[in-house]
Amino acid sequence: EAKKQGRSQHVFFESDMASRVELAYSLENELRQAVSQQQFFLVFQPQVGVQEGVIQGAEVLIRWRHPERGVVPPFEFIPVLESSGLIQEVGKWLIFESCQCIRDWQNQGLWQEDAWLSVNVSPNQFYNPSFVDDVLAALKITGVKPECLELEITEGIVIGDTENTIKKLQKLRSHGIRVAMDDFGTGYSSLSYLKRIPLDVLKIDQSFVRDVTVDKTDKAIVEAILAMSISLDLEVVAEGIETKEHYLFFKGTRCHRYQGYLYSPPVEASFFKEMLKEIVVA
Ligand code: C2E
Ligand code: MG
Ligand code: MG
Ligand code: MG
Repeated sequence: EAKKQGRSQHVFFESDMASRVELAYSLENELRQAVSQQQFFLVFQPQVGVQEGVIQGAEVLIRWRHPERGVVPPFEFIPVLESSGLIQEVGKWLIFESCQCIRDWQNQGLWQEDAWLSVNVSPNQFYNPSFVDDVLAALKITGVKPECLELEITEGIVIGDTENTIKKLQKLRSHGIRVAMDDFGTGYSSLSYLKRIPLDVLKIDQSFVRDVTVDKTDKAIVEAILAMSISLDLEVVAEGIETKEHYLFFKGTRCHRYQGYLYSPPVEASFFKEMLKEIVVA
């Protein structure tokens, strides 16, 4: 009986694997179509000055408008873009499109001189030998100042190839592009690499923010990151500010900017443009 059960489990496992492989394969095909049919679009989540209380810039987040499934969130497809190599084309488009948005909003008089868009960069996109040139080309073609662009990398990128990463980041920063470490504190690496990586901004991961006002450990971690950011001369962004309590906590610290549902979820370009209009008027 046990043998029979073990066997049927085995068969079940194999067919489960097969269907998962099939699923991944069809997802990859669908994503190829999505690229050729331009089904991706950008949404923007305002980044707000903690003390000033106004929008200073925004994080750019990708969405996929699937013909049947509607809007698909990035965690369902970014890994497949990465593993299939499609991220090269999509990543290049993301950066170009972000610069193009800045250009449009500048032309319409909606862009504050020192505002920025912050764009997420995934590992295989970053490791492409032409990455830095592609970014510089996008800025040049659109006529956008490098200071208007921030790139968000992750600890995973650094661990993958530390020396190469340092060189590329130095090059980007030498042009005036800012670099932010996203999801800070969630990676494997510890604090030692921070000294060597050329950075401008640390983004405190939302997993530490969620319970910062009730959980002593999370509070200690957040305070340690903030204290460290002083000696490393880094700007700090708090992610996932959902409540007034979250906001008030960070208002009492040296944290520079925040983003989160309390101020606004990520919104489509037309909506973000309306938000920009309000600042210009204000
Ligand atoms: P991330 O870069 O850390 O982005 C922050 C995520 O937190 C976004 O999810 C955002 O919608 C969500 N968020 C914002 N405010 C709140 C809040 O108050 N509470 C909570 N619980 N969540 C909040 P999203 O857009 O689903 O993106 C998830 C992840 O997918 C991103 O994490 C990033 O790693 C990746 N991603 C998104 N867009 C891109 C992209 O254009 N390129 C690359 N390479 N990765 C992207
Ligand atoms: Mg990010
Ligand atoms: Mg993040
Ligand atoms: Mg995150």
